[in-house]
Amino acid sequence: MVLADLGNQLSSALRSLNETTIVNEDTINQLLKEVGNALSKSDVSMSLIIQMRKNIKEKVKLDQMAAGLNKRKIIKQVVFDELIRLLDPGVPLWKPTKGKSNVVMFVGLQGAGKTTSVTKLAYFYKKKGFSTAIVCADTFRAGAFDQVRHNAAKAKIHYYGSETEKDPVVVARTGVDIFKKDGTEIIIVDTSGRHKQDSELFEEMKQIETAVKPDNCIFVMDSSIGQAAYEQATAFRSSVKVGSIIITKMDGNSMGGGAISAVAATNTPIIFIGTGEHLTDLELFDPSTFVSKLLG
Ligand code: GDP
Repeated sequence: MVLADLGNQLSSALRSLNETTIVNEDTINQLLKEVGNALSKSDVSMSLIIQMRKNIKEKVKLDQMAAGLNKRKIIKQVVFDELIRLLDPGVPLWKPTKGKSNVVMFVGLQGAGKTTSVTKLAYFYKKKGFSTAIVCADTFRAGAFDQVRHNAAKAKIHYYGSETEKDPVVVARTGVDIFKKDGTEIIIVDTSGRHKQDSELFEEMKQIETAVKPDNCIFVMDSSIGQAAYEQATAFRSSVKVGSIIITKMDGNSMGGGAISAVAATNTPIIFIGTGEHLTDLELFDPSTFVSKLLG
């Protein structure tokens, strides 16, 4: 089910509250069933749905509500808040500091949209007045450095990479050192995603993390991976200190549930969403705006 369908189903579940003559436990159970079904069809994991239902039940105590209270309004607000909570781990967002070098490391599987997002983020900070550079530490994928070179040149952003050095740790360290020396404020390190999660990939990420000591590590995830999101996000989170998430391809037929699962698996905030292939297709993520839009 695509994100728009999830929004429609959730809205319709909430609307049906208005159509009942009395609001009782049965009404709430029916609503929770419909909300749960909608989330489940969008690949939100069952355990999250069960927890959400429990939270709502605990917050909506019909027998303790004074007569005259607008029960429907209260119930809707509780559901709205719980949907936001699924996407908001309550952790402050990482922000770079002006006037010092901030190292940002990108991790994620090949094809997730890492390299595209690296340039988008560099461009975002450049527009905000930060001096910015990209280091291509993906020595695994043929053409990775060319892609960075091409994207960075188009966005007029400094970059570093090597055509001869095959050790990604050496490339990452060298690039970061060069840009630190000249006082670059945002240094973004793109890493290899290989083809799949494997121990070599995670070992390489750990070594790069140790070498460049990132101020923030961003996990990039394709929004359309559905049920695999929870497990994938957990695997990356347990290898490196993931501090933020970027969910890509939100312009496509994404289920949305993957995003929710990634937040839950890592207790890490989504900072941006990718909404296309172009340089400016990157939007700041705000859970409350996202849920409001979802519900129309
Ligand atoms: P990497 O292997 O993780 O570095 O992935 P890439 O950055 O090379 O992206 C893989 C493909 O996804 C490319 O064709 C990108 O143009 C595309 N892509 C990345 N982000 C987005 C996005 O937000 N929306 C869409 N529609 N495509 C994207």
